[in-house]
Amino acid sequence: MGVCPLARMSLLRDNFTGPLHPCAWPKVLTCTCWRAPIIWDGTFDPDVAQQEAVQQNLTIGLTVFAVGRYLEKYLARFLETAEQHFMVGQRVVYYVFTEGPVAVPRVRLGPGRRLRVERVARERPWQNVSMARMRTLHAALGGRLGREARFVLCMDVDQHFSGTFGPEALAGSVAQMHAWHYRWRRRMLPFERDARSAAALGRGEGDFYHAAVFGGSVAALRQLTAYCVRALEVRWHDESHLNKFFWLHKPAKLLSPEFCWSPDISRRAEIRRPQLI
Ligand code: UDP
Repeated sequence: MGVCPLARMSLLRDNFTGPLHPCAWPKVLTCTCWRAPIIWDGTFDPDVAQQEAVQQNLTIGLTVFAVGRYLEKYLARFLETAEQHFMVGQRVVYYVFTEGPVAVPRVRLGPGRRLRVERVARERPWQNVSMARMRTLHAALGGRLGREARFVLCMDVDQHFSGTFGPEALAGSVAQMHAWHYRWRRRMLPFERDARSAAALGRGEGDFYHAAVFGGSVAALRQLTAYCVRALEVRWHDESHLNKFFWLHKPAKLLSPEFCWSPDISRRAEIRRPQLI
C-alpha cells in the first residue's frame, strides 16, 4: 500500500487513534476509497487514543434499546461487560431505552459513569421496535443526551463486550463493517434493491454493510436519525435506511469486523481480539 494518506489523516482532530499503522496488517483493507481509516487491532496506539480522549475531557454516550424479552435476556450482560471493556477511564453515560424501567438491572458503575433509563412504548410487531429506535434516538439527541455527550455510539443489545472498545472507535461519523457481510461479501446480506423502496441502492451501489454498531458526533447522528425517520415514514426497515445513509454520506471512520464479530463464523487470522460478540 504505497504512501498512505492515513498518516496525514491520523493527525486530524477528533481522530483518537494517534498515528495509524496501516501496514501492520498488510492483508486487510485499512483505508476506504474515500480515504477514511478502517480501524483494526494493531493499527493504532491504544495509549495515545486514551490520552487524546482524556485531554479533550469527553463524555461518551452509549445508547441501547432493551424492549420486551431483550431486556431480561441481554441487558445485564451487555452493561456488565461494557463496564469492563467500553471506554474504560472515560466519562460515559449509558442511555437505556426500555418499556420496563423497574426491571433494568442494577449494574455497579465505575467512577465518572452514569446510567440513564428512558421509558419507551412497547411496539408490536418487533419490526416496529427497530423502526421506532431512530425516532427515539433523534429526540434524545436533541434533548439531554445531546447536551451531555459529545460522541455517541448506538448498539444492539443482543451482544456483549469481549475486548477493549476504546476512543479509537470515535469520530465525526462511524460505521462498523458487519461481520457476516465481511466474511461472505454481498451474498449474505444484500442491500435493499427494490427500486420502490426509499432505501434502494442501484446496481453496483453499496460498499460495506452496517447494522449493530454506529455512531458519531451528536450533530452527525442527528442528521442520520433525521434521514432515517423521514425515510421510514415511507417504508420500514431501519437497517436498509442506515445503509443508504452511509452510502450517501460516507463515514469518517470504519470499524473493522472484529469490533462486532459473530462466534458462528469460524475465526479468521485477522480477527484477533473481538471487541463485541
Ligand atoms: N430490540 C428490542 N426488542 C425487540 C426487538 C429489538 O429491544 O423486540 C432492540 C434490541 O436492542 C436489538 C435491536 O433492537 O438488539 C435490533 O433488533 P433486531 O431484531 O433487528 O436485532 P437483530 O435480529 O439484528 O439482532
